[in-house]
Amino acid sequence: MSTTQDKKLTDIVISDLMISSEKVAHVQVNNPLEHALLILVKSGYSAVPVLDSSYKLAGTIGKTRILNQVLGLERFEMEQLSQLQVHEAMNSDIPSLSKTDTFMEGMKAVINYPFVCVADEDGYFDGILTRRTILKQLKRDYYTLKSHT
Ligand code: AMP
Repeated sequence: MSTTQDKKLTDIVISDLMISSEKVAHVQVNNPLEHALLILVKSGYSAVPVLDSSYKLAGTIGKTRILNQVLGLERFEMEQLSQLQVHEAMNSDIPSLSKTDTFMEGMKAVINYPFVCVADEDGYFDGILTRRTILKQLKRDYYTLKSHT
């Protein structure tokens, strides 16, 4: 994020703010749900991106969707965690950003999501933009403006 220090908000693009793909925990479409739950619980994240076998963005998956998927009539059918795969529970109806989108486009996208995935024009996963990063940048800009008035 140091690259944004001297930039105006209007000059900032998503690649300045995103967490790049190497640092993002993810699961793959054909992983068992058990593996996805393990990643989510161990990382402490509520949701992570789902990628296909060629590292293209396919969706996101979170703890609530996994638990809903194995929820039976009277109990959680935990034995299903090893039988079902991530693509059966993931959310594939998600927004995505591109690295060249503006700060404002990023801000609009994270209003409804704690994080939004970034992908290139062919769908290859580049990283994520979190609401936390946007808020930190806004706070920095607010105090910088204040100190100049
Ligand atoms: P944060 O703003 O850091 O609390 O992150 C919000 C959400 O973004 C987390 O709950 C995760 O769903 C996702 N997230 C943040 N950082 C990562 C990461 N390095 N790998 C995977 N997901 C992440």
